[in-house]
Amino acid sequence: MSGSRPVRAARGTELSALGWQQEAALRMLQNNLDPEVAEHPDQLVVYGGTGKAARDWRSYDAMVRTLRTLKQDETMLVQSGRPVGVLQTHEWAPRVLLANSNLVGDWANWEEFRRLEALGLTMYGQMTAGSWIYIGTQGILQGTYETFAAVAAKKFGGTLAGTITLTAGLGGMGGAQPLAVTMNDGVAICIDCDPRAIDRRIEHRYLDVKAGNLAHALQLATEARDARRPLSIGLLGNAAELLPRMLAEGAPIDIVTDQTSAHDPLAYLPLGVDFDDMAAYATEKPADFTLRARESMARHVEAMVGFMDAGAEVFDYGNSIRGEAQLAGYERAFAFPGFVPAYIRPLFSEGKGPFRWAALSGEASDIHKTDKAILELFPENESLHRWIKLAGERVHFQGLPARICWLGYGERDKAGERFNDMVASGELAAPVVIGRDHLDAGSVASPYRETESMLDGSDAIADWPLLNAMVNVASGASWVSIHHGGGVGMGRSLHAGQVTVADGTKLAGEKIRRVLTNDPGMGVIRHVDAGYDIAERVAEERGVRVPMREG
Ligand code: NAD
Repeated sequence: MSGSRPVRAARGTELSALGWQQEAALRMLQNNLDPEVAEHPDQLVVYGGTGKAARDWRSYDAMVRTLRTLKQDETMLVQSGRPVGVLQTHEWAPRVLLANSNLVGDWANWEEFRRLEALGLTMYGQMTAGSWIYIGTQGILQGTYETFAAVAAKKFGGTLAGTITLTAGLGGMGGAQPLAVTMNDGVAICIDCDPRAIDRRIEHRYLDVKAGNLAHALQLATEARDARRPLSIGLLGNAAELLPRMLAEGAPIDIVTDQTSAHDPLAYLPLGVDFDDMAAYATEKPADFTLRARESMARHVEAMVGFMDAGAEVFDYGNSIRGEAQLAGYERAFAFPGFVPAYIRPLFSEGKGPFRWAALSGEASDIHKTDKAILELFPENESLHRWIKLAGERVHFQGLPARICWLGYGERDKAGERFNDMVASGELAAPVVIGRDHLDAGSVASPYRETESMLDGSDAIADWPLLNAMVNVASGASWVSIHHGGGVGMGRSLHAGQVTVADGTKLAGEKIRRVLTNDPGMGVIRHVDAGYDIAERVAEERGVRVPMREG
C-alpha cells in the first residue's frame, strides 16, 4: 500500500513526482480526501451525497503510485476513479484524463448506476470530487453569496437586512448558505437532520448558532430580523417535516430554498426515519428508501410552493428536488424556478463563472498575495472587491489554502498569467493550481440547473460540455474531466472540468493563456448560439469569433 491514512497533501517545494504538473494532480487528489476537506474521507466521499475522488482504496493507491512515476510526456487515464492506463502523449497534453460516472443514455439512471457500482465498475464523481479540484465549502460560497445578492437586488432593495431565509442542508455545498446570507446582512434558518453537519459549520464559522427547537429558532430569527442584525441559525430536524409545520404555523419567511442531497434519493432522509437508521436502511432496502424519500420530497416541495403562494421568494438551488417531487406525483413541483434562469444566466452569458485556485505551498500568505493581485488587476469591479475582502476576513481554509471568485471572459487569463509570473519571480512560495467548478458558463448541460429554460430550448443538448473538454485538452490544461450526473443526479447532466498548473515556467504561461481564454470563451459561444444579447455584445466587444455571426 503506497498511501497512508488519513490522507493529507504534501506542502512546500519538495517534489515526490517527476514534475509540478504531476505533483499538482497528486496533491489535489490527496487534498480532496483530507479530513478537513472531505465529508466522509474514510469512504473516499468528498461531498455531494456520494461524490468520490477515487473508486476504492486500491485504485487510490495505484493513482498515487502512477502519478509519482508519470513522465512529462505521459498521460494517465482514469475511468470512474480507477487508473486504467498510461499512454505516451506530449508535453502540451494533459497529464491526466478522467471520465467519471458516464452511462449510455437509456441506462443512465440510479438503479443501473448502483448495480454497476456494486460490481465495482464505476463510481459517482459529482463535479469537483472526481476531478480533484474541490476546495471545501468556500468553493460554493461565492456563488451562493452572489445568488443571495441577486435575490436581494431583485426583491429586497439590494440587501437581505430585515429578512428571514429558510433553507435545509448544511453539507459540503449547503453549508455555504448561512454565511452567504449573513454576508448579505440577512437572517437564515438552516435545517439539517445530521447534528454533525450543524456542529461542523459552527466550528468553521459558516453558521452562528444552534437553536434548541423550532420555536427557539423562530424567536432568534425574528429578534435578529427586527434589529436588522445578520444571524444564521442551525435547526436539527427533517426538512420534510419542519417546512410544512412552519408553513401551517404562518412562520414569517421571506426567502425559501433547499440544498439537501435531493439529487440522490438515497441521501435524503425520508419522513418517519431516524437519522441514525438512515445509512443502514438505504443500503439494505434501496428501492423502498427511494420511494419514501421521493414522497417526503414531494411534501417538502409542496411546502416550498405554499411559501411561494404566501409571497416568499422561492427557488430551487440546483439539487433536483423539484424533479424528485414530480416523480412522486406532486404536480406543482416546477411552480418555482431554478436559480440559474432566475439569477445566474446573465453572468454565464459573459463567460463569468467560479474561477478558483489553490496554493500548493500550503501557505496562507500565498493566497493573501494572490488576493491582492486580483484587487490590483480589477480595480473597477466593486462586488469582486467586497467579496475578496469578506472572504479574507471570514473564510476558514480547509486543506490547502485556496480562493474562489467569479471572473469572466478576458479576466481569467489575466489572473492566471499574473499568478504564473508570481510563481516565476519567487513571490509565491510554490506553484498554484487554477481550476473551476463544472458548474460554469460553457461546461455543462443540465436541464434542471445550469441549462434550465435556455432561450432557444437547447436545455438538453449535451454537445457543449464535450466540446468544452476537447477545447481544454487542445489548449493545454493539466487535467481534464468529463462527468455525468453531477449536481442533479443520474440521467440529468453532462459536464466537464479542467485544472491548469501555474508552475512559473514559460510553457505553463502559454498553456494558461489559451486555457483560461478558451474555457470561458465556450460560455460566451454557447450563449451566443442560444440567442442571448449579453453574450452577443461580449463576443463583439472582446473579439470572440462565432462563424454564424460572420459573413
Ligand atoms: P451533502 O451530502 O454534503 O449534504 C447534504 C445535507 O443534507 C446533509 O448534511 C444531510 O444530513 C442533509 N439532509 C438530507 N436529507 C435531509 C432532510 N430530509 N432534512 C434535513 N436535512 C437533510 O451535499 P452537498 O454537497 O451539500 O450538496 C447538496 C445539494 O446541492 C446536492 O444535491 C448538490 O448536488 C447540490 N449542489 C448545488 C450547487 C449549486 O450551485 N446550487 C452546487 C453543488 C451542489
